[in-house]
Amino acid sequence: MAATQWHERASALEIDGRAFINGQRTWAASEQTFDDHSPIDGRLLAKVARGGVADIDAAVAAARAAFEDRRWAGKSPAARKRTLIKFADLILKNTAELALLETLDMGKPIKYSQSVDVASCANCIRWYGEAIDKIYDEIAPTGDASLALITREPVGVVGAIVPWNYPLIMTAWKIAPALAAGNSVVLKPSEKSPLSALKLAEIALEAGIPAGVFNVVPGFGIDAGAALALHMDVDCIAFTGSTPVGKKIMQMAGQSNLKRAWTELGGKSANIVCADCPDLDAAVSAAIGSIYFNQGESCNAPSRLFVEESIREQFLDKALAMMPRFQPGDPLDEATVMGAIVDATQMKTVMGYIAAGKAAGARLVAGGEAARLDSGGFYIAPTLFDGVDGSMSIANEEIFGPVLSVLSFTDIKDAIRQANSTPYGLQAAVWTRDLTKAIQTARALRAGTVHVNQYDSDDMTVPFGGVKQSGNGRDKSLHAIDKYTELKTTWIQI
Ligand code: NAD
Repeated sequence: MAATQWHERASALEIDGRAFINGQRTWAASEQTFDDHSPIDGRLLAKVARGGVADIDAAVAAARAAFEDRRWAGKSPAARKRTLIKFADLILKNTAELALLETLDMGKPIKYSQSVDVASCANCIRWYGEAIDKIYDEIAPTGDASLALITREPVGVVGAIVPWNYPLIMTAWKIAPALAAGNSVVLKPSEKSPLSALKLAEIALEAGIPAGVFNVVPGFGIDAGAALALHMDVDCIAFTGSTPVGKKIMQMAGQSNLKRAWTELGGKSANIVCADCPDLDAAVSAAIGSIYFNQGESCNAPSRLFVEESIREQFLDKALAMMPRFQPGDPLDEATVMGAIVDATQMKTVMGYIAAGKAAGARLVAGGEAARLDSGGFYIAPTLFDGVDGSMSIANEEIFGPVLSVLSFTDIKDAIRQANSTPYGLQAAVWTRDLTKAIQTARALRAGTVHVNQYDSDDMTVPFGGVKQSGNGRDKSLHAIDKYTELKTTWIQI
């Protein structure tokens, strides 16, 4: 679709900013709202219900009632599967509206909102739907005199708190395994991009997920988020967001009812390119494509690039040749690959890191400034620093913007030591044609995922999550079902 048509659709779009509780749209009990502006051009998208304690209480009560009367948990896995597949189909049917909401709210290119965000959201829900009737319970080998059944039961009411960078995908990663396992869910989307999750809840109801099973309460972290994490009747909190807030979530879970707390947190992923890299063009393309995808606002972005000295110049020349492709443009133009930064606060944070990199003596090779578009809005040119050393903030702290830091290393041991030197451990990569070196490096890197001779492979079948201060849980794959189920043992005398 042409950009003009997307703009026309955007102008005609009716956006509902009310919460979704017990199958109904509702304003906050306090009647408070907040203004949701688009980072694309600053336009007011919607007044959104500012959920607080009373709204979280209402949503948790609805979720608890739905769980206790077994209107969803009591359905057979095959029945839940049919509904989840219908949910996925309806998501795809609503691709244009969901993609538009995602792009307007968060700033990402419409091309990716359709082909990545909406498509992955639907795929995730379909995948757990397809999986859930293929999981069997167990009988323990206790002998002839008894039967000990080990069964998997839903935990009950799941509270999910998600960030703004992939609103639909992060929501799907939480709700799909939780709903497939028979739980009820209360979701708190980010105050920066709450709109697509609200629409998703409407679609879920239309698909046949009963009222009360999937509730969405928009609002801020300090009120709606904290109320959910502290709630005494929430059995499990599944959080994706920053490491500092993740620590608070763990504390709140502990100080309330000791609910299970799963955290998927920040990253500062290391991408190590050795001189014997088997395909330099592929390495450059992956390094550049992955850091600037989603405007650099990805937890697993390979933001630290270690290049062996003998190929550094060649690598940088090739990288610079690719940069024009990532110049920010109108997110509603399907040719655009880099869109807007989510809001003024994030823009300031990223520009602050760029200034800190310059002040610390890193060599600015590309970008380093705001990109001005006629529409206004928040845009940053793809930025690349060379000559970065481990003491600089741009080498250690999560920037969450289109900024790549290039560091050097002496030998692979030095690269591994530097790669492991941050508090994060989400992803890492090594590029070498030496199989032994690849395997030894992959083993030594402290990360939830390590890539060899590629970056950013992804599939529903593999877990996604980190070690160290990148979190304690795993989204995706059958392992995520563990987060939303409890094992129960039933002894039967024979
Ligand atoms: P954030 O931690 O500021 O907020 C995340 C969510 O938590 C939001 O919904 C927010 O409203 C809520 N929140 C904030 N303070 C809270 C509090 N005191 N109590 C309860 N809830 C609170 O993170 P963000 O800026 O929205 O997202 C960016 C971060 O998310 C980055 O660090 C990124 O790496 C991380 N992230 C991680 C993954 C992963 O899978 N590991 C995926 C995406 C994003």
